[in-house]
Amino acid sequence: MSEHQPTEPGDSSETLFERVIAREIPADIVHETATTLAFRDISPQAVTHVLVVPKTRYRTVAELAAADPALLADMVDTAAKVAELEGLGNGYRLVFNTGADAGQTVFHVHAHVLGGEQLGHFGR
Ligand code: 5GP
Repeated sequence: MSEHQPTEPGDSSETLFERVIAREIPADIVHETATTLAFRDISPQAVTHVLVVPKTRYRTVAELAAADPALLADMVDTAAKVAELEGLGNGYRLVFNTGADAGQTVFHVHAHVLGGEQLGHFGR
């Protein structure tokens, strides 16, 4: 398999987000498109904390960007729609944790949409 091919659905490293997309695990879904799904994070780190995932799995945003930039654009569009639906007109933060040091725990690329309050600056 090439480095940038999506992981096969039956891959032994299947993550819980494939199960959310398949509706095998319940989630509070905020918005859905043909290519993406947005649902609330189970452990919110801000007043509004929604995850946006592509329905096709890539491990990281860099892998996704290299393989399918249009799908990455779909994720950004879905995040903007979520911000509109959630009333985040004052702004929101879009975060892609990449790798262990950044705290990525689920290796199905996802964007965190954070907002609904004044967020602190970056850091530890
Ligand atoms: P990461 O740490 O990989 O950037 O983000 C993974 C996110 O998934 C975390 O913010 C975590 O709270 C969230 N999460 C973990 N398990 C579940 C779950 O079963 N349902 C939902 N909705 N979110 C989850």
